[in-house]
Amino acid sequence: MSMEKLINLQGIDTKLKDLNDLLGDLPSRVNELNQQEESIKNSIIEDKERLKVLEVESHKGEVRIAEINGKINKLKDQLFLVTNNKQYDALMNEMDHMKDERSTIELQTLSYMEEKETLAESVETMESDLGSLSNDLSGRREKLEKVISNSANEKSSLEKNRAIELDGIDLNIISIYNRVFDARDGLAVVNLSGNGCGGCGAHVPMQKVTEIRSLSAIHRCDVCGRFLYSENNSVN
Ligand SMILES: [Zn+2]
Repeated sequence: MSMEKLINLQGIDTKLKDLNDLLGDLPSRVNELNQQEESIKNSIIEDKERLKVLEVESHKGEVRIAEINGKINKLKDQLFLVTNNKQYDALMNEMDHMKDERSTIELQTLSYMEEKETLAESVETMESDLGSLSNDLSGRREKLEKVISNSANEKSSLEKNRAIELDGIDLNIISIYNRVFDARDGLAVVNLSGNGCGGCGAHVPMQKVTEIRSLSAIHRCDVCGRFLYSENNSVN
């Protein structure tokens, strides 16, 4: 059996792995964007609801202030009609109460106004974020669909080729290949790098290097277990 089939197998498996990695990442990214979109939408709804509440409360405040102003004016008129100090004090007291309430409401209205301004700004920002996010999302969804359909074709042709390569390889070697492939992050067949293993860098004895170059036997790295080959073998 030649090393060539193992080298081809590794090439096919690397492509398959890349395809899976690509697919593995895209759907989760689209999912993330979907969640972001959802959360912005919810925040916008919440902020708009709060804006409505503030509107209603501000209006209530205005109505109450008008009411208080009317009452204060009436109390002022009554001041001219009092006949003793006790009545006078009572009216002044009531008027002070009214004025206190009015300034409390005025302060509250001011803080509502500030909150409204902040909320309106934040809604505006979020709506523009949402716009660009939705654009990004539809772009990615399109890309994802394209990648899925392309990779489905590529995957099935790679798997066909894989079966052809596997057919000519010793079952024993395949089982070693699979073990190393899983243990070494998908890289089971490597090129020599000088006199070292192209996978882990371990030194390869000269005798072995010569045999690898002459393709006389299948060799593996003593340290990482990967199959070794040489692009500049002495046979060609
Ligand atoms: Zn190695």
